[in-house]
Amino acid sequence: MGRIRPLSENLIGKIAAGEVVERPAAAIKELVENSLDAGATAVTVEIREGGMTYIRVADNGCGIDESDIRMAFERHATSKISKEQDLNAIATLGFRGEALASIAAVSRVTMTTRTAERETGLKVTNEGGKITDIREAACPVGTTVVVNDLFYNVPVRKGFMKKPGQEAAAVHELMTQLLLSRPEISFRYINGGKTEFHSPGDGQAETALQTIYGSRAMKAMKPVDDHGNGLIIKGYVGIGENARGNRGQELFFINGRVMHSRILNDAVENACRERVMIGKFPVCALYITIPYEAVDVNVHPNKLEVRFRDEAGVYEAVQGAVLMALKERDAFEHPAEMPLMKEKEVAPAAPAAGVQPVLPKTNAVVSVSKTLPAEAAVFPQEAPARPVPEFREVRPAEPKKEEPPVIPAAPPAPVMREQAEQVSTILPAMKKPMKVFGALFNTFILVEYEDQLLLVDQHAVHERLLFDRLMKEHSEGSRAGQELLVPLVIGVTNAEQRLLEDSREALESIGMTVESFGERDVAVRSIPMILGEAQAKDFVRDVIEELQNGRDPTFEKKRASLLQTACKHAVKGGDALTEDELRNLLDEMIEKKVTPTCPHGRPLVVAVSHRELDKKFKRIQK
Ligand code: ADP
Ligand code: MG
Repeated sequence: MGRIRPLSENLIGKIAAGEVVERPAAAIKELVENSLDAGATAVTVEIREGGMTYIRVADNGCGIDESDIRMAFERHATSKISKEQDLNAIATLGFRGEALASIAAVSRVTMTTRTAERETGLKVTNEGGKITDIREAACPVGTTVVVNDLFYNVPVRKGFMKKPGQEAAAVHELMTQLLLSRPEISFRYINGGKTEFHSPGDGQAETALQTIYGSRAMKAMKPVDDHGNGLIIKGYVGIGENARGNRGQELFFINGRVMHSRILNDAVENACRERVMIGKFPVCALYITIPYEAVDVNVHPNKLEVRFRDEAGVYEAVQGAVLMALKERDAFEHPAEMPLMKEKEVAPAAPAAGVQPVLPKTNAVVSVSKTLPAEAAVFPQEAPARPVPEFREVRPAEPKKEEPPVIPAAPPAPVMREQAEQVSTILPAMKKPMKVFGALFNTFILVEYEDQLLLVDQHAVHERLLFDRLMKEHSEGSRAGQELLVPLVIGVTNAEQRLLEDSREALESIGMTVESFGERDVAVRSIPMILGEAQAKDFVRDVIEELQNGRDPTFEKKRASLLQTACKHAVKGGDALTEDELRNLLDEMIEKKVTPTCPHGRPLVVAVSHRELDKKFKRIQK
């Protein structure tokens, strides 16, 4: 007898479900899209435990009529085929007619719904894909879907789920995108009983953004409003203290849908390059209107990659729009008031007040991207040379198709590791008689030691010494914190606020006290002793970034990474040190027998032997 048999309907359902709803956020996306398709103007999303045990999506849309209710749960049943010409809608996979069926197949669903024509509504219960009960229910017009115990009958899929916190983070991100993409809809998002945000739905991008970022951050955002090369570009961009550690908050809404595009990231980042530290990324929500035929949407279930027919044109228009937004504000409003750089660095000369920035847009683009090499843009000539911060992505000056070069950190690149190993044999045995020639570029201390030329990175050594000292002090129980005279209030997102709350203990262990302050702000009351007040704000941003990057770290790891962040801010790189200071650094490095790398894994010392130099000068053959 043959062994090939058709799969049961039940099994097919479960397999399909895995594709449509691979995690709670994906189920929520489908449900909210249904609500929006039903003409809702207000949508509430509630989750518990990251959505794994409980999801509720309630809308005030048109509801489902009694005659359609069974069909709604059937696979490939949809009421939306007539809209097939809507390319955008099809591209989002919104209309495959299987979302409800798929979700129901792998959970326990209750749907309560009423149309305006009916006096009473209906409550439908569906368990694992089978309708088990339909009864009349009193409810307002609209639809509420409750999904309990997602994947309860698909243990394999359930096993793939992340921790509730991570699932909740994915839902948070989704809700942020939905909220920003449809400012005319009032979204309420509740996580674990707490309202995370509630947007007014007044159609204004500004109030939608304020719902997410808070009014403090919103004040620092620059409005973008421009058009060119067939695009209309509106929205907001945030730089300076609004900048983030990754490009996760560069959001693009193309014809109303959130989309991803490297070209758009590049255009915005390049426009902001002089105003955002290397390794930092602007925040933006740009609403771009572009003819459908000019874009190509590459459909991936969770991510919509968009391609443009005219990439250069799109790049130019978007970069120009952002540059324009930044320049207008610079020149007319606060010429000197833009805290774009860390205190220690010299900001580029601000355009003279009153000078009208009405350069033709193309000129503006050229002047930024062609005349300034990447580093000069961030570290202008008056500024002392400063090592490029470790493991940062270096952004190319012009958009490139290929990935930008990455300066790796830990683990060090092979070359670095080799160097570090080589030096690790020199360092511990090193004794004091050595000749110090000063610091090259105010960065590398030149030392003659035995038959070697050593180049010692003053920044890295200082960071290593500081880090070791702090680790020691802290392991001895000291809580070196200093109270700020006036607490520093910083605008954060809800997720960032919670992250800081969750890490309170680790933060306090390094002398930092942070308290939530209202819905979208935190108040920093004390900072680690080694920092000055001037560095506090940047430090907090970096702390958030550090916490975001650490995956479920132990308390010790968290503390160490926070200390490391504090060190980074305290170290002097590129400062001209006196000969005594140089010597002290070297002496301490030798006495303490330090690990021969900085806390990020970069080498402290690079050695060139006399012999190698002889070879280079062809004094010897090999
Ligand atoms: P699709 O959205 O592709 O049509 P779904 O399985 O998501 O497929 O939904 C099936 C049908 O159920 C929809 O076409 C719609 O008629 C109805 N429906 C689902 N959710 C809602 C809702 N929130 N309000 C009104 N109708 C809904
Ligand atoms: Mg749907």
